[in-house]
Parts: sequence; structure tokens; C-alpha cells
Amino acid sequence: MSISPASVFRADVIAQKAYQVHDSDGFIKMDANESPHPLPAHLKQALAERLANLDLNRYPDGAARHLKEKLLNQLGLSNKYDLLFGNGSDECIGLLMQAISDGQAKVMALEPTFVVYGLAAKNFQLNYVGVTLNEDFSVNVERTLAAIKEHQPKLLFLTPPNNPTGNILSAEDASKLIEATPGLVIIDEAYEAFSRQRLISLLDKHDNLLIMRTFSKIGGAGLRLGYLIGQQKWLIELDKIRMPYNINSLTQVAAEFLLDHAEVINQQVKTVIAARDSLISALREFAELTVYPSEANMFVVRYEKVRDLHSWLNEKKILVRQAYNWHPLLNNCIRISTGTAEENAALLCAISEFFKKQS
Ligand code: PMP
Repeated sequence: MSISPASVFRADVIAQKAYQVHDSDGFIKMDANESPHPLPAHLKQALAERLANLDLNRYPDGAARHLKEKLLNQLGLSNKYDLLFGNGSDECIGLLMQAISDGQAKVMALEPTFVVYGLAAKNFQLNYVGVTLNEDFSVNVERTLAAIKEHQPKLLFLTPPNNPTGNILSAEDASKLIEATPGLVIIDEAYEAFSRQRLISLLDKHDNLLIMRTFSKIGGAGLRLGYLIGQQKWLIELDKIRMPYNINSLTQVAAEFLLDHAEVINQQVKTVIAARDSLISALREFAELTVYPSEANMFVVRYEKVRDLHSWLNEKKILVRQAYNWHPLLNNCIRISTGTAEENAALLCAISEFFKKQS
């Protein structure tokens, strides 16, 4: 007898589409906000040696103690604060949602933003409220305060710099929103390394705040390692629903290795910031494009015939992220992740050819 998944799984799961990741073989990858820079060869070799010493017949350290100690040290936080690791910050988002999931609770984020907030809320049968940003992608504080008052969210995600729009939020405005929220606020600092501003010091000011970060944007996307920073009282509860051994041994060792070579990572981040700024300036030379400013490693470009440009770039084997079906504010937009100098030059060359072809 054949049993249908629809008779077992929830109807909304059956109705959902899986998260799509474009096959990137042979493409210049400017679609996923990763670092374009791998480790230099000598460090890859040194990392391989460290990994070779692991006994993979054993489970990893369930609390990732060494890694935690090293990272806490590097962050220079007072011992009032602790960390909770996730398999990517995506898992941290899932844990937060799981912890409030009662079929009624509301989750709020400022749209357009990272799609996983909405996706995870749906998976955990939460009510997701998206508060629209201003046309220029800045946060509309008054509108958000009104939405908080109306919806009383259990979780509010603030994302400075935001994905995909690259905008930040001042500490003053963030504080206003945190103070107004009856639940927990998560400041998702996935892109803080590329920004002039970080809001981690707000932890000292607000009781209902966690900061979330990730290794994914600074050279460790393949590790799948994200973390929450905050007071024990919150993290202890989330730790109860974390699956045992969620951070594998290879990731723990490799992440420690990256922390040991922070100067290399920091240099790569500086290179990305400079490349982002010169790519944005070069793209602004094309009068047809509107290129938005960004404090992240990616940025939004608007163009009337963006679908044509997007397919042209695909033909030229350059992957950028379509944003035109993402949110009405992103009408005719794509999102471009900063590449290496060579990749950025290839992109500019392809766009230049596109416009020559048009004229
Ligand atoms: N937050 C934001 C704002 C992001 O853009 C991303 C990745 N695109 C994440 C979190 C998830 O990162 P991770 O790879 O650590 O799951």
C-alpha cells in the first residue's frame, strides 16, 4: 500500500516550495553574499593538517567549549554574556522560533529582508508580520513602533546591515524599537564586518536583546556556523531545544583555525569593502542603473529591463540574485554580491556589452 505524504505531513508543508539554490558550476558566483576569497594555500594546508588529527569516530564536543572560549575572548565581552552556536545562523533563527511556537505568537521583521525569517516563521506555524521599509530602504521608525504596538511581537528581527538592501539602523532608533517590544529583539549582524557600525554594545543597555552573527560572510560559509550572543537567561532556554552535537567536529576545528588567523580574515574583509565601493562607483557610470548604497558585502541595483540584464548575465556565466520577485519595494531589482577584483571586472565588462547591444 502506498501512503501519500499529504496524508501524513501538514498541508502547508505540502504546499510549500523548497528553498532554491542555483547550480553554480562554471559560474562567477555573485549571488549568495559569501566571501569571494578562499584561504591562502599555505593556510589551507595547515588547516588540512589540523583536521587530519580529528577522530571522527567520536561525537564532537557537544558544547563546543574550545571554540566558545576562543570566540568569547575575541569578542572581548564581559562574563555576563554567553554564546549559543547554530548550524548557520539559520539554525539559531529556527531555535528562536521553535521556542515561541504556540500557533499564535507573532514574529516581526522589517521588509524587504532576509527570507529565512518568514520561511522559518511559516515552518513553525507562527504569524509573520513584515513592516515595510521606506522607499529608500531606511527603517521607518514610526511605522515600526505602531506595528509593534498593534501586534505585540514575541520576536523582532532587526538587520543592520540589511539583506538585500544594505542599509543600517542607528543605535538610537534601534533602542527605541527594543524598548517598545514586549518580546525579544534579535539584532542580526550577519554583515557587521562590512559596516561602519555595530550594535553589540546595546546588550548592556537592553534586557530583551540578543545579537546574532555568522562565519558565513567572512570566509566560512562552508562551515555552517552562526551564533547568538547574549545573557545566559535567554541562551539557557534555547539550549534546551538545540539538538545534541549540532556543531560538527570539522566545523569546530576549522572555525577555531579562522579565529587563530583573524588577521587574514580581517584583511580579506577590507579587500571586499574596497572592492564593493569601487564596484558601486563603476556601476553608477551606467546612467540606466540605480545603484543603492550599502554597508554590507552586497548591494541592490535597479534597472527598468532588469530581467533582460539578469538573463544576459546568466548567459555570460555570472550569477547574481534576482530580487524582483522578492518584495514590491524591490521591483526591477537584482542583488549583487561583491566579488574579487577579476570577478568584478568581468561583471562590469558583461554589463557594458549588454548596454552596447541595447543601443
Ligand atoms: N542573516 C542574514 C541577514 C543573512 O543574510 C544570512 C545569510 N544570507 C543569514 C542570517 C544566515 O546565515 P548563515 O549562513 O549563518 O545561516
